[in-house]
Amino acid sequence: MDNKKTIEFWKVLLIVMLGFIMVNITLIAERLEELIRLQELNAQQSITIKYDRMSHQTMQMLDAYTTSKINEPQIKEAVVKEINKPEKSKESKKVVKKKTTSNKDHGKWYKVRALLTAYCPCQSCSEGHGRNTATGKLATEGRTIAVDPSKIPYGTKVKIDGHTYVAEDCGGMVNGYHIDVYFSSHDKVNSFGKKYKTIYIERR
Ligand SMILES: [Zn+2]
Repeated sequence: MDNKKTIEFWKVLLIVMLGFIMVNITLIAERLEELIRLQELNAQQSITIKYDRMSHQTMQMLDAYTTSKINEPQIKEAVVKEINKPEKSKESKKVVKKKTTSNKDHGKWYKVRALLTAYCPCQSCSEGHGRNTATGKLATEGRTIAVDPSKIPYGTKVKIDGHTYVAEDCGGMVNGYHIDVYFSSHDKVNSFGKKYKTIYIERR
C-alpha cells in the first residue's frame, strides 16, 4: 500500500515538472518570434533600435536572416544565447519592451529580396490577355502586380519603394519572388527594366 503511494507521488511530481519545462520552452519561442519581428520593423523604418543586450554579431545575423542569407536554426541558437545572458540593468529592459509594443502594427509585413520586371497590355507582354488578369480584375497601373500565387497569394498587398500594390495577376515566367509590375504603356515597361529590390509583403 505504502509502495503504491510512493509511485503515485513520483508520477505526479514528474507530470508537474514536465509541464513546467513545456511552459518555459513556449515562452522562449515566443520571445524569439518577437525579436525577429522587431528586427524586420527596424529594417523597414530605417531606424536604429538599441539592443543593449545583443552583441553586434547577433544583430548582423538577425539582419542576414531577414534577408534570407542564413538559415533559421543558426540564428535561433544565437538569439537564445543572447536572451539567456544575465540582464545588465532595468533600463535596458525598458527600451526593448517599449519598441516591442510599437512593433505590433508593422509585424504584418515581411521583407524579401525580389526580382522586379514590368509588363503592359501589349500583345508581347500580356500574351494576348490585354488588361484581363488571372483574378478577373482589370489591370490598373499603380495597383496591379503579377506574382507567383504559390509564393504570394492573390489579394496580398506588396510595398515597393513605399507604394502599395496588390497581387492580382500571374504570368508564365513569374515564379518565386519575382514581381511583374503592371504599366499602361510599353514605353514605361522599357524604362522600368529589370532589377532586384528589397520589398515588403503583407503577412496573411
Ligand atoms: Zn508591353
